[in-house]
Amino acid sequence: MDLSKQDLKYLPGVGPKKAELLNKELNLFSAEDLLYYFPYKYIDRSKIFRIREIDGNMPYIQLNGRITFFETFGEGRNRRLVAKFTDGTGFIDLVWFKGLKFVVEKYKLNKDYIIFGKPTLFSGRINIAHPDIDLPEELSSKGAGLSGLYNTTEKMKTHFLNSKAIQKIVFGLIQTVPQPMPETLSPEIIADARLISLDEALRNIHFPKNPDILRKAEYRLKFEELFYVQLNILRYAKERREKSDGFVFGKIGDYFNTFYTENLPFELTNAQKRVLREIRANVGSGKQMNRLLQGDVGSGKTLVALMSMLMALDNGYQACLMVPTEILANQHFESIRSLLEGMNVKVELLTGSTKKKKRTGLLAELQSGDIHILIGTHALIEEPVQFHNLGIVIIDEQHRFGVAQRSKLWKKNIRPPHVLVMTATPIPRTLAMTVYGDLDVSVIDELPPGRKPIQTILRFENKRAGLYEFIRKQIQAGRQIYIVYPLIQESEKMDFKNLEDGYEHIKEAFKEFRVCMVHGKMPAPEKDAEMQRFVSGEAHIMVATTVIEVGVNVPNASVMVIENAERFGLSQLHQLRGRVGRGAEQSYCILLASYKISADTRKRLSIMVESNDGFEIAEADLKLRGPGDLEGTLQSGDPFALKIADIVRDSQIMQFARNMAEQLLDHDPELNKDNHQIIKKQLMHLRNHTENWGIIS
Ligand code: ADP
Ligand code: MG
Repeated sequence: MDLSKQDLKYLPGVGPKKAELLNKELNLFSAEDLLYYFPYKYIDRSKIFRIREIDGNMPYIQLNGRITFFETFGEGRNRRLVAKFTDGTGFIDLVWFKGLKFVVEKYKLNKDYIIFGKPTLFSGRINIAHPDIDLPEELSSKGAGLSGLYNTTEKMKTHFLNSKAIQKIVFGLIQTVPQPMPETLSPEIIADARLISLDEALRNIHFPKNPDILRKAEYRLKFEELFYVQLNILRYAKERREKSDGFVFGKIGDYFNTFYTENLPFELTNAQKRVLREIRANVGSGKQMNRLLQGDVGSGKTLVALMSMLMALDNGYQACLMVPTEILANQHFESIRSLLEGMNVKVELLTGSTKKKKRTGLLAELQSGDIHILIGTHALIEEPVQFHNLGIVIIDEQHRFGVAQRSKLWKKNIRPPHVLVMTATPIPRTLAMTVYGDLDVSVIDELPPGRKPIQTILRFENKRAGLYEFIRKQIQAGRQIYIVYPLIQESEKMDFKNLEDGYEHIKEAFKEFRVCMVHGKMPAPEKDAEMQRFVSGEAHIMVATTVIEVGVNVPNASVMVIENAERFGLSQLHQLRGRVGRGAEQSYCILLASYKISADTRKRLSIMVESNDGFEIAEADLKLRGPGDLEGTLQSGDPFALKIADIVRDSQIMQFARNMAEQLLDHDPELNKDNHQIIKKQLMHLRNHTENWGIIS
């Protein structure tokens, strides 16, 4: 019996309605999907609290007592049922907003129940909404002790598909699956990695017999997950090496040489030279390049990108540079155009706001090969964009491009073009491999000479007056100032108001200076005009959102003030800070925070004060906040998505799993040996669910 082919809807206690919810809300379709839907945490159901002990801050708890009466309140949508519940040490309200009739009929007054739920404080009283209710004897038959909690959605809860209901379905499923469930790792690996069997792991991850076996179950499942991720990457890497030939940029020609000898405005740093050699070796080798270029903000990645593109031009290919925002596209366009001044290179810009007529012309010139370098935003990967002969794709600030978007680029030429992904948010190598597949990595670990480290200062709201004095002095000395406000999706309306109020307030406070404003929602022409006022030096202060986070380059700006700094992630703060310190003057980054921030937040912000090193900050951010976006990139519907392992916290297990996978492939690259069939089968099984995404990093 293949559990992956067994439709959920036929499982005991499911049926078509619940199955549909599980499909839609949790992306679960088969019995196997459900079996691999693990609890997100466990609570100890052996402990019973007294009502007098509890407060509104506790996690899930258990009480043992009786309902003394039911009462309903409100009308229509506000209708709710409240049960008074007591255990002799006090009273608590149990509250229901749905299924009122069912509850009143099912539960008897003055009968002994075990209730389970999360206490919350509401208008001065503690209540538990939609508690689980069991008879004491029911509970003991299910086995007390550790009980799993499953994530569900609001919609599921209103249809009575809560954590407990899922647990019940899983319980039913586990009774019917073959015993033991078929193994998915070979006996050697199980022995070498000291793992428990899959059968034992799956049963205990849902219904742990004790904390010790739960830990072993978690370890087994994490290991297995990471092992197959690594095995998959390693196999694809091998296939890519064997099959995926790349264009050969065999020569360094006039474009590159002219640029190097005549146009290059400064000496390259040693790190830039080394990275260019790495890229050159790669694109000349006949193998397709798939490379991540990491370099801190301001380390000069743009120049490396440009010179890599010139290598393509020298060999008769076109190049494109893709960036996440229009502002950045414009900036790159301007700066690359000026860097190439006097050279016969046709550079064009294509973004969402390129006018139709212009666009049509561009597309034709692109197809005929008249355009050498195309710079743009997402617009570049849209269907009608056809190149004559695209040889290299450069992706800047790549953390904003998903795998799916990148894979579209793949189809722009007969063979996959070389790909260089640039990022200023460095991530540990093991992490990069897991998230982006098998990439080669180049690092610019040196800043251009003459940069003064930016001084970062944490200030609380109440010191605003002093700060304004400081800003005034800086402007009088000829500098320019950024003031950044958070604009974050969820609370956009309010944030927007803050931004506009801030703008008015700054204009008022700095009447003698000129202030401009830029944010993402502005029409492009207006945005450009405001940007231009700042770039030209006409405006002294720019009030902005994080749209300026990437790329914007105004060397005369020496102060960056970040309002509500506590609301930004560290990597984002580091990016923002990178907008200053680009000129010869001492630069400052002032983090303004509310007085009320927590100790954790203070610690986070103090990392910014202490360090200017993007690598260090990225690692600290990862530790503090978890992989966030990175994991998001990996998870979009991918069967290799991590269900239990955490790429940061479990990095040791990941390294171990990778070593095991490497060893295995060293001995048996094709997985042809008898005792490896089990692994081959499982790998194919996992791969069957997916497109060939591994080939694009
Ligand atoms: P990032 O890596 O953040 O994209 P940029 O490419 O924007 O950095 O470069 C930052 C600034 O440093 C630019 O003004 C650029 O002209 C300058 N720069 C780049 N390389 C060098 C170098 N080798 N020497 C001096 N300045 C450089
Ligand atoms: Mg850049």
